[in-house]
Amino acid sequence: MIKQLVAAIDLGGTNTVFGLVDKEGNIILKESIPTAHFQIPEDMAAVVSEHIKLAMEKFEDQYELVGVGIGAPNGNYYKGTIEYAPNLVWQGIVPLAKLFTDKLNVKTVLTNDANAAALGEMMFGGAKGMKDFIFITLGTGLGSGIVSNGEMVLGHDGFAGEIGHVIVKENGRLCGCERRGCLETYCSATGLKRTYIDLLLGQVNKGDVQTDMIDSKYIYDKAVMHDKIALEAFEQTGKVLGLTLANSVANFSPEAIFLFGGLAMAGEFIFKPTKESFEHYVWHIYKGKTKILPSQLKENDAPLLGAASLIYKELGMIA
Ligand SMILES: [Zn+2]
Repeated sequence: MIKQLVAAIDLGGTNTVFGLVDKEGNIILKESIPTAHFQIPEDMAAVVSEHIKLAMEKFEDQYELVGVGIGAPNGNYYKGTIEYAPNLVWQGIVPLAKLFTDKLNVKTVLTNDANAAALGEMMFGGAKGMKDFIFITLGTGLGSGIVSNGEMVLGHDGFAGEIGHVIVKENGRLCGCERRGCLETYCSATGLKRTYIDLLLGQVNKGDVQTDMIDSKYIYDKAVMHDKIALEAFEQTGKVLGLTLANSVANFSPEAIFLFGGLAMAGEFIFKPTKESFEHYVWHIYKGKTKILPSQLKENDAPLLGAASLIYKELGMIA
């Protein structure tokens, strides 16, 4: 019997990862090409489509391709476009979903990478069977996907659910979105580093601080060695995150909040202060009802599983 497969594409500023994923979440094919190789998106779509077609020819007596799912920065689900993504060479509005539909003759859907990863958690991870949850990715920035009543929260324009750009401090740190005080400037790998350096500068002379080698891994290693500044940096990061998530609960009353990404791998260093702050700030009617959990998706597989889940859900093939 011929089984159905989808193509999954994770478009990043550096690399575009693409592959074929079956309904059980097995990644049948996984390849990667540098995104910046392609001056125009049409060339990227042509090359990736060609790779997918060639792979499908090999499997033609076992599988058929039924759709394409794409996770991309600034992805607009409603229009199938990427809009003004700051980390891509392609400027303006790019009709990426249409480019793939034209090449592969199957339905293509697109959304931002964090929304896609949230659906991946729902189909293949810890959110199986949940209808209301929030997925937070703590990487260079803070991405988020919100699922409410079993559906992605997209808003009227397709860009809802950007918890990373909730302002948590008036006139706070400068954010990539050109405003100040956004959550991601405090709660992300970059935010942790900024907090650590601020704390360090409060203790020693400016000239003595070498910041080049400091990253979240460095701070984690310091925390493991009981370094007070590193522990305090995690503490402050978790405090801001917990407070903001407590506010998100007032909006969405999720069953769980999943933390994913490099910073979430710091385990109790980030989970403990986040949970404590969350319990402190959450309104008592919600107390004890929302779990804060580590994502059950593997770091490397999450983008493809997310993009695959997006199209499986669109085709009505998600449980
Ligand atoms: Zn921002």
